[in-house]
Amino acid sequence: MNLDYHDSWGNALTIFLEHAENVIMARADLDRRIVGCNLALMRLLRKSDRPLGMKLEEIFRYPDGTEAVFASPQSGTSPLPQILKLRGGEDLYKVISRLEGEEWTVLAERIGGGDGMVMQAMSSLTNDLVNIGRDLARRNRELAEARERLEKISRTDFLTGLANRGYFMERFQEAVFAADQQGEPLSLLMADLDHFKKVNDTFGHNAGDEVLKACAATLLRICRSEDLAARSGGEEFLIFLPNTTAEDAQRVALRICAVMREADVLGSGSPVTVSIGVAGHIRGESPDDFLKRVDQALYRAKEKGRNRISL
Ligand code: GH3
Ligand code: MG
Ligand code: MG
Repeated sequence: MNLDYHDSWGNALTIFLEHAENVIMARADLDRRIVGCNLALMRLLRKSDRPLGMKLEEIFRYPDGTEAVFASPQSGTSPLPQILKLRGGEDLYKVISRLEGEEWTVLAERIGGGDGMVMQAMSSLTNDLVNIGRDLARRNRELAEARERLEKISRTDFLTGLANRGYFMERFQEAVFAADQQGEPLSLLMADLDHFKKVNDTFGHNAGDEVLKACAATLLRICRSEDLAARSGGEEFLIFLPNTTAEDAQRVALRICAVMREADVLGSGSPVTVSIGVAGHIRGESPDDFLKRVDQALYRAKEKGRNRISL
């Protein structure tokens, strides 16, 4: 037997190593030329004879293909295993080499997962990562959509779907600022349903809600996309109209009044009318003062008998 391996395990271990499938054992001289090996090394190198005389570094490579280095460990230290490939093969081996006296002993155990398997494992990991990435992107999208829905809810009046007072005020301040900066006209309407308490008392709260919705729909239909209509509270609405003079805003207000009057939302023959205050922004005027003026205009419309507009 070429392996010629002797120790207290005796023949059994020699025979086992000689015929092992996944374990390579080799002996080499000081020049690291093979002087004996088991059948596995011969078979795995696809040789018909044992590769006697070949150098260890010719046979063993690092996974990147470069020649393995066999250095003798310092005396007293145990050799660290190296992960190597066999020349011409893809499988990985855990290799322990040791120089003892004049002879190298090399033991190598196949650890499975040649480059093919490693690549497979890597590609499956990559797939997992891609899937996690995709999942994350989907969740982020859902989160962004949910945030957007939440934001929309936070700026919307739930009954009418118009902007709520908070959101209107934010945008109104910006609009006043922009109008001042650019010297553009900006108008403001404040609309309030007439005798709405009576509507509720006569037709019920639900019918009152329907009137509020109908009024909101009318405002949306008449307003341009750059205008902003809001339910500012109860049965009161605010609309700002950028790039609109007070004169043009009065025309818009008159139309709103007329549509509400003619709609007869309750179908009762006595339509729910609306009074509207109109104001045009004066350069330099604060948003608060502007609001106060439109509120006073609405008060005048009510005073004059409702179902009308007033400057
Ligand atoms: P005016 O012509 O002077 O404005 O009289 P009005 O009755 O419209 O005014 P008032 O302030 O006395 O009453 C407003 C009513 O609006 C009272 C309140 O119950 C009703 N209201 C406020 N919010 C809602 C709502 O969300 N749904 C319904 N159905 N009614 C509402
Ligand atoms: Mg009212
Ligand atoms: Mg009111």
